[in-house]
Amino acid sequence: MAEEKLPKRSEDFAEWYNQLVLRAELADYAPVRGCMIVRPYGWALWENIQQALDRRFKATGHQNVAFPLLIPKHFIEKEKHHVEGFSPELAVVTIGGGEELAEPLIVRPTSETIIGHMWSKWIQSYRDLPVLMNQWNSVVRWELRTKLFLRTLEFYWQEGHTAHATRKEAEDETRQMLDIYADFAVNDAAIPVIPGRKSDAEKFAGADTTYSIEAMMGDGKALQSGTSHFLGQNFAQAFEIRYLDQGGQLQYCWTTSWGLSTRFIGAIIMAHGDDQGLVLPPKLAPYQAVIVPIFKTDAEKNAVMEPAQKLKTDLAKAGLRITLDLREGFSPGWKFNDWEMRGVPVRIELGPKDVAKHAAVLARRDRPGKEGKSSIALADAVNSVAKLLEEIQKSLHDRALAFRQANTKEPRDYKEFKLAVETGFAYSYWCGSADCEAKIKEETKATMRCIPLDQKLGQESAHSSASASCVYCGQPARERAIFGRAY
Ligand SMILES: [Zn+2]
Repeated sequence: MAEEKLPKRSEDFAEWYNQLVLRAELADYAPVRGCMIVRPYGWALWENIQQALDRRFKATGHQNVAFPLLIPKHFIEKEKHHVEGFSPELAVVTIGGGEELAEPLIVRPTSETIIGHMWSKWIQSYRDLPVLMNQWNSVVRWELRTKLFLRTLEFYWQEGHTAHATRKEAEDETRQMLDIYADFAVNDAAIPVIPGRKSDAEKFAGADTTYSIEAMMGDGKALQSGTSHFLGQNFAQAFEIRYLDQGGQLQYCWTTSWGLSTRFIGAIIMAHGDDQGLVLPPKLAPYQAVIVPIFKTDAEKNAVMEPAQKLKTDLAKAGLRITLDLREGFSPGWKFNDWEMRGVPVRIELGPKDVAKHAAVLARRDRPGKEGKSSIALADAVNSVAKLLEEIQKSLHDRALAFRQANTKEPRDYKEFKLAVETGFAYSYWCGSADCEAKIKEETKATMRCIPLDQKLGQESAHSSASASCVYCGQPARERAIFGRAY
């Protein structure tokens, strides 16, 4: 398993990714084409993502709910853009209990319609608003080209749905949830993201405005890592979601939806991973540290085991997620490789010589080799490990940000633009026309990722003096957009 090396990330990024997912035991292919099985280690990572988000959702007043998997087919057809967008990807149930169904049922691709249907019954008055809901579930979209975590027929996610009395409240909610995703990505996953608005071509089917956070992966491609949609009154009108305002007038609600999925695991892998395997941000890692006892003889084993157990207990008591590798029949070197493949942030090596000195060796995953090793006093292990985890969390983020900045260009013309999207992002003025967007996509395979909310984009403004004209057609442009090839 861990003995054989991964393909080099710089040589075959796609195959490096596929093998890493399998060999770190995050997920496996299911018997049905395009479906995935999330294995315990992958699910533990997802649970940590869930907790980090759920905490933020609850703190902003949202409650969790569970709506059914099956949706009557005519619900999907009620909102024109929604049905156009989702029809090609729908899985449809036509037989139940051996009988042909009077009305086919859709396996939910997302739940706006069924939730809208229920809201039309539950929401009567301004006193019932806002409604702030979220559900953790899986959805099915019949994708043709699939890849573990990034694009599968069924995937896990959360979908938030809210209804409001006013346009402003709904818009504020949409932006608040985008901020929450960005905060989670940066502070917990150590992935720098660009929050921005999608073009009409890239927005959610049925939305007025879609916002997303976009991240750069280790090969320079973009990954849309979370989305937040302002749905206007589109679904409220399609499903008659109305309320009596304070003046006794019947009004349509304003609604939003927002989601982040197991795709985010793909982002973590591709933003931080290296040739040895996964590199996990400490805040989300299932194990933040692993203790590997080192011994050859029984006498050495006896000397090492007790302090190793005590160390584990001390670290666990301090609230760290810790494991002690007691597997028999594997050399320490084999175990080191195995934990490196799984991306555990800190490895604690404990041998008889260390024990004699009341010491241990810490090896940080983000800096392989001697450079990442340090000796610590066992008595001070809790502080040393906690401090190192903080350092790793910060250094992963800084490294990913430096990489994105180095690979984000501000092209002066279309020629430079084409070069820029070969290896990373192009940040360019765009006139806003769907034509230019489509031609750029056709000619360069790069899509409009988002129009950054912060048009300054940190310090990436080397050529900000470039004139405000569309990089494709030369017409006047007001805003700059991020373009890149994407997953
Ligand atoms: Zn243009």
